[in-house]
Amino acid sequence: MAAAVHKLLHPHSHRHGHADDSKTKTDPHAEQQQQQQSPAMEREREEEKHDLAQWDARQGPDEMQKDTSEKIVGHSSGTLRQDDFELIKTLGTGTFARVWLVRFSNARNGDADKVFALKILRKVDVIRLKQVEHVRNERNVLAAVAGHPFITTMVASFQDRDSLYMLLEYCPGGEVFSYLRRARRFNEATSQFYGAEIVLILEYLHEQEGVAYRDLKPENILIDAEGHLKLVDFGFAKKVENRETYTLCGTPEYLAPEVIRNTGHGTAVDWWAFGILVYEFLVGQPPFWDQNPMKIYEQIVEGRLRFPSAMSSDARDLISGLCTVDTSKRLGNIQGGAKTVKAHPWFKNIDWDALYHRRNKGPIVPHLRGPADTRNFDEYEPESSEREKYTDELREKWEKCFKDF
Ligand code: AMP
Repeated sequence: MAAAVHKLLHPHSHRHGHADDSKTKTDPHAEQQQQQQSPAMEREREEEKHDLAQWDARQGPDEMQKDTSEKIVGHSSGTLRQDDFELIKTLGTGTFARVWLVRFSNARNGDADKVFALKILRKVDVIRLKQVEHVRNERNVLAAVAGHPFITTMVASFQDRDSLYMLLEYCPGGEVFSYLRRARRFNEATSQFYGAEIVLILEYLHEQEGVAYRDLKPENILIDAEGHLKLVDFGFAKKVENRETYTLCGTPEYLAPEVIRNTGHGTAVDWWAFGILVYEFLVGQPPFWDQNPMKIYEQIVEGRLRFPSAMSSDARDLISGLCTVDTSKRLGNIQGGAKTVKAHPWFKNIDWDALYHRRNKGPIVPHLRGPADTRNFDEYEPESSEREKYTDELREKWEKCFKDF
């Protein structure tokens, strides 16, 4: 395994800008043809598939803490191809992506049971919807954070002439959103547990990676087989460090006032959205709501929160601190960062170390018949057969942007 892993670890990783000469990607098509002709490369590809099948999300934080160049996961693969996978079922669709449950086709004995989620984006759609930069950000952030206990691990990324692929660990529990709507609201203990896992994610993204996630909401949080959370969809995630950025993105109910005012925003937007999320967990709907999004925006910039009488004073205090319009006074963004959130009395029952190491199961453990069970996902229409073409002209102009994918 070590030799194969070593080969895996010479990706065209953006972060390290290290490209192994023998595998420098110029034309993925030409490269694939070459692979088909070379038994050595064919073997390398089989080794890579075998290593990926052996990888287990439960390896946990130890994997994440390794230097990127030593991780098995998160690399840009020059060898994987779509026909290495059998597409089993659609798990979800975004504006321009479709996520499939997949398993290896022609797998070695023992590797055939391993399933993944494969997110497929067509280059022509990415370009048409002006998402080229976002998709690059998504891949690079996922590569950097691969292995975090509460973020869906991107095992590898690859591409062919028409499409971009992100191979992700499969989260069989489905969206927190579905559980929340079914239960109407979560009790305090469940909300605290989920809230605490989100705090660990934001702490890591902001303070270790300088990344703002920018799309926190129950639809983007999945539940894994042990009932822990996994954050998905890094389409808006961006390395901002201490700078400010201006793109309007997110979901109306979860937008921070500074995003609406377009005065420049940073990682503080995630703490605002976290306050909205905790409120929605406890109450069953977000605090600022109207049929008309413009009215929602008015309520947000005004920032007046109303709490149901049953809500505990600790919860109110936490949410008020997070949903503070003035970013210089917002909990999470003030001196001390995530530590001040962790120290809040609403989290007094949380053992942060045990949580990070996933020592206990989550409050809702999904019922599953096996690792490939999709009962927690909706049914989706098949993909339309009408497709725009990624023409040579488009390719000429854009292909360089996908070079490191
Ligand atoms: P995305 O475009 O990343 O938001 O993905 C669209 C939908 O696909 C999500 O809302 C999930 O329902 C589903 N999905 C995405 N990633 C995974 C995953 N790793 N495991 C299971 N389902 C996923």
